[in-house]
Amino acid sequence: MDPIRIAIVGIGKIARDQHVPAIRGNGAFSLAATVSPQDAGLEGVPHHASLDALLAEGPAVDAIALCTPPQVRHALASQAIGRGIHLFLEKPPGATLAEVAALEAEADKAGVSLFAAWHSRFAAGVAPARAWLAERRIDKVSIVWREDVRVWHPGQAWIWEPGGLGVFDPGINALSIVTHILPRPFFLKDATLVLPENRAAPIAADIAFRDTGGAAIHMDLDWRQTGPQSWDIMVETDAGMLKLSQGGAVLHLPGGTEHGEDIEYAGLYRRFAALIRGGRSDVDTAPLRLVADAFLRGKRQTTAAFHD
Ligand code: NAP
Repeated sequence: MDPIRIAIVGIGKIARDQHVPAIRGNGAFSLAATVSPQDAGLEGVPHHASLDALLAEGPAVDAIALCTPPQVRHALASQAIGRGIHLFLEKPPGATLAEVAALEAEADKAGVSLFAAWHSRFAAGVAPARAWLAERRIDKVSIVWREDVRVWHPGQAWIWEPGGLGVFDPGINALSIVTHILPRPFFLKDATLVLPENRAAPIAADIAFRDTGGAAIHMDLDWRQTGPQSWDIMVETDAGMLKLSQGGAVLHLPGGTEHGEDIEYAGLYRRFAALIRGGRSDVDTAPLRLVADAFLRGKRQTTAAFHD
């Protein structure tokens, strides 16, 4: 079978750190081109400054991985679908829920695969956590996602703009895990979003959810964390505490700790290839829905200006 010719559109941090090695490490794909307005691209790979230029001048591609900021993703995605190109959407899949729903319908009509990727769901501890929790009574959940924005997002202006999600950019990764491992759906009850006086997106958030069985789920997001960083999920159950740490990579169960293999982006590209070969799409907007609900229902607090 011929490899799927794929272009990366948006050759920024995540594309270079994860997409390029995952594509090069998967024989189902060949990296055909890159697109970015400012970046010079990769040695030996055709590069264009815009998707228009790629589509006009080639090389031909079967698939695109869209790794731009979310605010520009819909127009690019719709254009690619219109050309019959399969699409991998980095998280979050769009800047609004309605645009993602429109893309789903367009992809369906065009007969192309649309994959809304949630990389944290492929972290090593997540699948075993989901299996373990399926049999348990969930009493209480605590999510603590505290990181230093200056370390992880230096100079990323888009992340502070409307649609950039602010602290929910990493926070949505936690929600992608929790929506996947908990056996029951859950809803937002209360939220406080803390916004620097000079920014349009939150630097911190405190959110209370409740699941349909009544279990409380608390989420603490903060970008002002210096020193040790936390990407932890604790689930109290009738059989003891489950803890996922390091963003889902390490699973602690009452019987011991499991360190699985890190397959996040390799797993995503295996899934994308299977979707394309099988003529299917995978678009789960549950994590984005919960973030949208926080913006819809959350109280706002203003805090000191933030400067990079
Ligand atoms: P980034 O470093 O700012 O890179 C974004 C890239 O998109 C830049 O190369 C930019 O190109 C390009 N771009 C912007 N507008 C474009 C357009 N109209 N057409 C083509 N390219 C365009 O951001 P990032 O950290 O890689 O994040 C990108 C996405 O991946 C976000 O949705 C983020 O949530 C997600 N993500 C990030 C991480 C992470 O650790 N950073 C992890 C997982 C997922 P120029 O620089 O050439 O202008």
